Formats: sequence, C-alpha cells, structure tokens
Amino acid sequence: MSAITETQIQQVQQALDAQAPMVYINGEWVPAISGETFKVLNPSTGEHLATVAKGNAEDIDRAVQAARAAFEEGPWASMNFQTRAALLHKLADVIMANQDELAIIESLDGGNPIAQIQHVDIPMSVNNLRSNAGWIGKVAGDVPTTPIDAEFMTYTMRQPVGVVGAITPWNAPFLMVLNKMGTALAAGCTVVVKPAELAPLSALRLAKFIDEVGFPPGVVNIVTGFGADAGQAIVDHPDINKVSFTGSTRVGRSILEGASGNMKRVTLELGGKSPIIVMPDADLDAAAAGIARELCFKTGQFCAAGTRLLVHNDVHDALVDKIVAIFNNIKPAPGTASGSQMGPIISEGQLQRVLSYIADGQQAGATLACGGERIDVPGYFVQPTVLTNVTADMAVHKDEIFGPVLTVLRFDDANDLKAIAATANDTEYGLAAKIWTRNLRAAHGLARRIDAGLITINGGGASDAPRPFGGFKQSGIGREGGLDGLLAYTETKSVQVGF
Ligand code: NAP
Ligand code: MG
Repeated sequence: MSAITETQIQQVQQALDAQAPMVYINGEWVPAISGETFKVLNPSTGEHLATVAKGNAEDIDRAVQAARAAFEEGPWASMNFQTRAALLHKLADVIMANQDELAIIESLDGGNPIAQIQHVDIPMSVNNLRSNAGWIGKVAGDVPTTPIDAEFMTYTMRQPVGVVGAITPWNAPFLMVLNKMGTALAAGCTVVVKPAELAPLSALRLAKFIDEVGFPPGVVNIVTGFGADAGQAIVDHPDINKVSFTGSTRVGRSILEGASGNMKRVTLELGGKSPIIVMPDADLDAAAAGIARELCFKTGQFCAAGTRLLVHNDVHDALVDKIVAIFNNIKPAPGTASGSQMGPIISEGQLQRVLSYIADGQQAGATLACGGERIDVPGYFVQPTVLTNVTADMAVHKDEIFGPVLTVLRFDDANDLKAIAATANDTEYGLAAKIWTRNLRAAHGLARRIDAGLITINGGGASDAPRPFGGFKQSGIGREGGLDGLLAYTETKSVQVGF
C-alpha cells in the first residue's frame, strides 16, 4: 500500500471512461444481449464515471447455464482441494498486487475515502477470502460408530449447494461481492453475481482478476444490471440453487418470496437500526470516539452501524457534547481527496431520503444538536447529524436511514437490565448492538438479552478472522463468515449402507 497520487487517480478515471460496457460470462467479456447500457456516476461530484452493460434475464440465463456446466463438468467439478485453495490464494495475491487501483475505483464509484478502503475494505475482503480458502478440505461429514455386527452403517457428507446467485448492495461493493463469491467457491459452488447498479465497477475489476488468475470458465460470472430485471431473474431462475443477498429488508422479503418457486436456499443480510447502550460508568471519551467513528464510516451507509443511542441520564449531556464536538470537526470530502474523513451519500435520491428523515424528526419534536444540512458543494454531501429529545415512536428513531444520523434516547435505571434490553429490542431489526460499560454484569447481561447477531462491548476491535455476521428478526436469515457462513453453501447428505 502506498500513498495514492493525483496522476494515478486520473489514469484510473480515464480507463473507466474508456472501458467497454461488457458483462463477464463463461470466461468471456460480452455485451448485454439487448445491447443496452447504463451510466455510473461518481457520488463525490455527480459526474459520469463509466458506462456499463445493462444485463437482463437473458444474460442471467446465459450466465446460469455457464455456471451449471462449470459446476457439473470440466476442471472445477473435478478439481482437488489443493488446487482450488491455491486458486483462491492466488486471487488474494492478485487483488493485493492491484490494491491501489482497486481502492481508487472503489472510492470513485462508492464515494468512500480511499484510506478507509485501503485499511478496511480491501484487507478485510482479502482476509475473508484467505480464511475461506483455509476451510477447503476441512469441512467433512461424520461416520457415527456402528456396532461391528450391525446390519447397516450411516455416514453424512457435505456437498456444495450448486449454482449460487449473489445479489449485492452499493455500500461496501467489493467486500460484499468478494465475501459471497469467496465463500461459494470455497464450498465448491459456482456463482452468478449481480452487483449493485449504483457501484458495480469494482466487481467488474474483480472479473478481470478472476480471468487473470485462471479460474475455469463459468465458475464466476458477473452480470451488471438492475435489480428489477437482472436481480429478479436470479431470484426466479429455476436452475439456481441458492441466493445470497445483502441489501434492504424490503427487497430481502421479496427475494424470500421469489425463492420459494424452486425452494432456493437463501442467505439474507438485511437492514439494521442498531442500538448503542452507554451505561453511567462507561469511558465516555472512548464511547464518543467509537460512536462517531462508526457513524462516519461509509457516511452511515453501513448496515451494522450503531444509530440509536440509549444513554443513561447522568451522562447524557456529557456524551452528546463530546460526540457533537467530534462531528463539528469532521470535514466531508470526496473519497479520493487526501485526508477525506467522510465521503458523500451514494446518490441524490438517498441524500434526499436522509434529509427528509432529519426534517421529519425535527417536526416531530426532536432537537438538532448538530449537522442536519446538505453541504453546498457538487456531489451528495450531508453533515453528520445528532438528534436529541427523540421519542421511541418517531420514524427517525425507528427506521433505517442509511446516513450519518444519530438519534438519542435517555434511560434512568442502570440496574434494570431487562428494561434497557427491552428498549434496545424495540425494533423490527436485530443486526447489531454496541454496549459501553466497565460493569461486567451489565456487559454480559445485556449481551445475553439483546436480540442481535453482532454484539460489541467497549468498541470491540477489528478482528482478523471473520466473525459470523448476520441478524435476528427482520435483519435477515443466516450468517456469513467463518464456518457458519461456509456451511450455508453446502447440503448435508446422509448415506445408509446395508451389509
Ligand atoms: P437494495 O435496494 O435492497 O438492493 C440490493 C441489491 O438488490 C442491489 O443489487 C439491487 O439492484 C438488488 N435488487 C433490487 N430489487 C431487486 C429485486 N426485486 N430482485 C432482486 N434483486 C433486487 O439495497 P441497496 O439500496 O443497494 O442498499 C441499501 C440497503 O442494504 C440498506 O437497507 C442496508 O441496510 C442494506 N445492507 C445490509 C447489509 C447487511 O449485511 N445486513 C449490508 C449492506 C447493506 P439495484 O442495484 O439495481 O437496486
Ligand atoms: Mg437500490
């Protein structure tokens, strides 16, 4: 990793502008069958970045046929563990060798600061890829001990689920695509990926890496397009065995319904409105820094972000003051600007949605402690925002906003963990929860009572091994990451042998 220069950024921009609109199917770059294309914008400027192919159901069908053939015949179907793992590790090497270019593409396309992509998205994706590669050959079935004279024996085996359709969002485009793809490949599946229409460029770059590494044709297919046609075609396709989706709860629900057609397996990573609980004994400086950092990460467009602050009365004012002081020093800037701490919102539409939630909250009686305004520059920038005097019934407090907006509620009784957990659980979501306390009883008691797939105590810390990631309730179904994530791409078969 090195400091990125203006010249490098310009070179990448020129290459993106000149890139032909193609999808990657069966190891080949081809235009969409319809010949249609769509434009991708840079959210930091609102300007045109690239034109990409608009794949639809016909392209998905072609990709599924290639993935099916690669799954059942040819080198992938018979490849030994070592060779498959080596291909995944080689892909990790190639990604790292091209990490500067990749970070620039991802930053131009999604708006996130280059440094964040270099320090978080790329290393995390590559660590996850290597971790997935490490499982290859280690996932086994069982043979229960059988009496020597038994008339039968039984064993189980784990087999790859088949052809996987991966549908991904724009907020962490590369990480999402690589996580789903890497897990599917480690399990022995083949994949058809439909990246987000708002940020598809790093997925297309990944297809070039796939090609360079030498995966057999059809193992990975990447079809850019819109959710309503290319995405829906994945959900509807009778020859796809599993859909792995990350995105909104609304679309997740429609995927669950659609997948029932041929009973596809589903992994759904959906929305969140994650509580942050700050107890009166918490380290307030650490809590304020952690809360603010997380809300600025991806400009709040991060499903597991803590956005609903529940703070004890005694420390409410002090904590809010500290968070506001940090936010007042954050200068949103284009992702590719050096020193950018927070990029833009992904699109004008999403920005308007964030602003309307802030306005609604104030109308409903919340107090604006800081932020709240669009920043008057090109692109889709908003100030990090804190709303206090919020009540539990306000939309700003209940709905996922997907922007840098923190709502604050107070509580009184630090000993009543049941009541605190009930307030935290008062949401349709259950993705994450963050607890700040030095009190062991409170930390572990709340971790046990809160309905969320990811609990972080005192900021936790980035881990180098993937933790199972996913939610309770309407935050999704299943987990990604670790062994749980990999097993979700397998089917268990039990075999009985008579003697
Ligand atoms: P989205 O609208 O649900 O879209 C996600 C993906 O699904 C995109 O590729 C989209 O295509 C596609 N899609 C849309 N309609 C579809 C349909 N009918 N059938 C099949 N695919 C369809 O979400 P988003 O706007 O990209 O991302 C924001 C949301 O994702 C937030 O709610 C956030 O919480 C959630 N999210 C969750 C996680 C998690 O891990 N839990 C992570 C990141 C984001 P288009 O690009 O064409 O719309
Ligand atoms: Mg969308």
